[in-house]
Amino acid sequence: MKRILWRRRIRFARTRLRELVMIARGLLFTRHPVLAHIIPIRRCNLTCSYCNEYDAFSKPVPVDVMSRRIDRLASFGTSIITISGGEPLLHPELEAIIRHIRKRGMIAGMITNGYLLTPQRIESLNQAGLEHLQISIDNVRPDDVSKKSLKVLDQKLELLASYAIFQVNINSVLGSPVRNPKDALEVARRARSLGFTSTVGVLHDNNGQLQHLSESHQKIFREIMDMGRRSYSRFNYFQHNVSHGRVHAWRCRAGSRYLYVCEDGLVHYCSQQRGYPAIPLERYTRELLDHEYHTEKPCAPRCTIACVQQVGLLDNWRDPQTRRAFEQPSGTLVQLPSAIREEN
Ligand code: SF4
Ligand code: SF4
Repeated sequence: MKRILWRRRIRFARTRLRELVMIARGLLFTRHPVLAHIIPIRRCNLTCSYCNEYDAFSKPVPVDVMSRRIDRLASFGTSIITISGGEPLLHPELEAIIRHIRKRGMIAGMITNGYLLTPQRIESLNQAGLEHLQISIDNVRPDDVSKKSLKVLDQKLELLASYAIFQVNINSVLGSPVRNPKDALEVARRARSLGFTSTVGVLHDNNGQLQHLSESHQKIFREIMDMGRRSYSRFNYFQHNVSHGRVHAWRCRAGSRYLYVCEDGLVHYCSQQRGYPAIPLERYTRELLDHEYHTEKPCAPRCTIACVQQVGLLDNWRDPQTRRAFEQPSGTLVQLPSAIREEN
């Protein structure tokens, strides 16, 4: 146990240092992506009813293809790559992908539902160089909306507390599909008792847009937000607007400072605006990064996508967006059909 504690302290200190460099670089220069989400597998082992980001059949993207995408992101000077899905732990060569991110000097993070974590898998993630892991927990007991439940995942959280040397954040959620808002509070308390950071997100509609929180949800939201401020991911004042159902003024730099690269290697604005601009990463250029940096996104005022808004904090104070999004036939951004696809 002592050995784990020392390894954890060293990994935390290094990661914190790298985060400070990432923030300083992000403030000094505007022409590189700060955060990219990559999808090595779209398949998931769960079927959360509100989710449009998974299917039940996709094969893992081969590791050499993922490595080329990571190289391309590195060539743009990307600071952080977060592996998402689907469920990334279903990828048989996930650790090789993480290793490649670290080899190219970028911060490596992952979002998982945690179901497949074992002591051996956590140790192999340690050894691969993972720096951040986030698990979203939706309720205390599983229901027909979500099985990402504290009751099911608590033993996985204990494993992480015992074996992980990377930073762990537990995200709880509020919003209309959540039956008991007090569950979010219980999840956040449990996370903090195990030494993890905790955040709270607001469930969005299928376009990543705002849903008004009820008074009881808002009260719990404030309590969780007040619990602690250890991580830079807590700089999320915009979430207060989200919780009140208010629009907020910010500049979405998706397509520039934030990139979402799907399993097919296409760059999209974000997980909820897939289909636009949908340009292959190998053909994405610095000119496109620059174009999207200066492009106003019509969905920004009612957006709930926290990670893109956190990246936006680096630039909200400068460079007003003067360009309009590329013309769309409908005049709005394109949402792909539900990602809860059936194989056919
Ligand atoms: S929310 Fe996560 S765990 Fe649930 S179905 Fe979607 S990808 Fe899978
Ligand atoms: S404002 Fe940006 S992050 Fe939010 S939904 Fe629109 S494109 Fe996505």
